[in-house]
Amino acid sequence: MSKDQDRKTSETTSGGKHKPPIVLVDPACPYCGVVQDPSPKQREKCRDCGQVIYTYTDQEERKRYLLTAEQAEREAREQAFWMIDNARSLQRVAKELQSNESKSPESDLLLFSGQILAQPILLSLAIEIALKAWQCRERKGEPEKTHDLLELFNGLESSTQEILEAKMRKRSPHSVWAEEPSMQNLNSDQQDMWGARMHPLRDVLRSHCDAHTHWRFLYERPSAQFETSEIDRALTVIIEAYDERWSD
Ligand SMILES: [Zn+2]
Repeated sequence: MSKDQDRKTSETTSGGKHKPPIVLVDPACPYCGVVQDPSPKQREKCRDCGQVIYTYTDQEERKRYLLTAEQAEREAREQAFWMIDNARSLQRVAKELQSNESKSPESDLLLFSGQILAQPILLSLAIEIALKAWQCRERKGEPEKTHDLLELFNGLESSTQEILEAKMRKRSPHSVWAEEPSMQNLNSDQQDMWGARMHPLRDVLRSHCDAHTHWRFLYERPSAQFETSEIDRALTVIIEAYDERWSD
């Protein structure tokens, strides 16, 4: 299966061709009990009581539920807890691989090339899941169905994007001095001229936005660059900020 076919089946035909259709369990508003017809497909206001109805889909059970804000918050918290934990685990494995990098092509060619291939796959998947965990909490519902890292970042609340960027600026050696007051007062062209990267996170996500598909199918397009340390830094920023904002 090619990249494009894979992307199509996993993203646009939510549920897939071979899975049974998703069934709405109860079409009644979870606040006032009045049946909603047509039933909400995503977050929308009840036509009777005006309260915001959230939806939750259980992909395994093939069932969809209408939820109150409180119920949706609970579901999102539980789901995102696993997601951020998975991102952390993948980052840990990637670090482990890096610590074994002493293998040379001469001593073990398969392991050597496997490590080069595996690290980008692990780290880009971890970033994708971590950004989706953020979206899950912010929306009290499902994240966007895309693997595009920049699209996921752009889907976050703008205040979150700025918090994450500020953290990245402080950590990234390429941009730490963009935080200096003298740089803040310049316009974006002048900032560029001085090499002050104001959006290091957006930049690294943009240059690796399709890493998920690219690195899994490297044989189709073998020229690829992956800035392991920048991506690892970005992942750390996203996870740390998540812990600060959502730990409960
Ligand atoms: Zn209602």
